[in-house]
Amino acid sequence: MQFKDLKKQYQILKKDIDNAISFVLDKSNYISGRQVVELENSLAEYVGVKHCITCGNGTDALTMALMVLGIKKGDAVFVPNFTFFATAEAVSFSRATPIFVDVDEDTFNIDSQKLEMAIEDTLSEGRLIPKVIISVDLFGLPADYIKIRKIANKYNLKIVEDAAQGFGGSINSKRACCFGDISTTSFFPAKPLGCYGDGGAVFTDNDDYADYLRSIRVHGKNGSDLYDNIRLGMNSRLDTIQAAILQVKLKAFIDYELKAVNRVAKWYDQRLKNIVDIPTVPQGFYSSWAQYTVKLKNKEQRDELKKNLKTADIPTMIYYPKTISDQTAYKDLDVITARDLSISKKLCEVVLSLPIHPYLTEEDVEVGCAIIENRLLCSIL
Ligand SMILES: *Cc1c(COP(=O)(O)O)cnc(C)c1O
Repeated sequence: MQFKDLKKQYQILKKDIDNAISFVLDKSNYISGRQVVELENSLAEYVGVKHCITCGNGTDALTMALMVLGIKKGDAVFVPNFTFFATAEAVSFSRATPIFVDVDEDTFNIDSQKLEMAIEDTLSEGRLIPKVIISVDLFGLPADYIKIRKIANKYNLKIVEDAAQGFGGSINSKRACCFGDISTTSFFPAKPLGCYGDGGAVFTDNDDYADYLRSIRVHGKNGSDLYDNIRLGMNSRLDTIQAAILQVKLKAFIDYELKAVNRVAKWYDQRLKNIVDIPTVPQGFYSSWAQYTVKLKNKEQRDELKKNLKTADIPTMIYYPKTISDQTAYKDLDVITARDLSISKKLCEVVLSLPIHPYLTEEDVEVGCAIIENRLLCSIL
């Protein structure tokens, strides 16, 4: 069994993907070919946002979002303490101070009550200026934007939606990547919509932000003039070949993959609901299931189960074994940890992500769930 079956996906899409790649090779327009703009238009339309600006990867997308917002030393950026390192890394890279906030035990996403407390604490301390909330749509589930938007409005903060894992998710039919003032995603192969290398995108409704993003993506160019550089930028473009591959994969994602992966999650839910703590999807929310993450009783039970599943050739992952505030890189950097990080720390001990992808069969799910049931019943006895 594969954790993510990219080989199977390729076998199914092979003809279209091979044709798309050959087409780019024949034209040899490797940088900024027309497929890039076409893809950007399709992505913006799917998400329901005015502008999509593709780029080199999801980390650059976050860095560019913070550049547009003018984030710098002395600014405070609120980040969930339970996420992939890149979310916080982009903040420190901008020389602002990340403030790590605890997450909700059930959704794994930023805890809005603790977020508001952290903002209040930052204001009363007075050293840093609160500027941005980076909310993460962890494991495919959008964060609670109804509450987060209220908080952002109350304190006059911008929202950057890190939807690297969230593409395809939605809240009341509004799609992920539309919830931030600026939203970002990643096309890393294992993300819900992946290419065959690194890739990413930034989304916004704001015309000025979009112009700025298109400029800094290519060395701060002036409109279409590549050799008039009006600001410092970076070199972060999505390759034409990756765009061509994503055109094929986006169609499969919209036509059936997103529905298929939700079907797999339902099979897991039904089979595991009385056995382990299954993922929560609140009313009105829809996940794109970047991960299917269950919670066990404690670290011993989790580690033991992981070992048993491995013996049966069922791959699992621990997302994440360490909170951001516990990362070695942050030992000597300027960071602030919010008062209570107990949930994020506890999650690192009890979470286990099971194989999930659109091509997983009901039989595969049954094999894994039978082992989980068996082991956990044994450990109770
Ligand atoms: C993967 C990921 C990123 C970074 O994306 P890359 O394309 O690998 O640079 C950022 N944030 C989160 C939450 C991620 O999962």
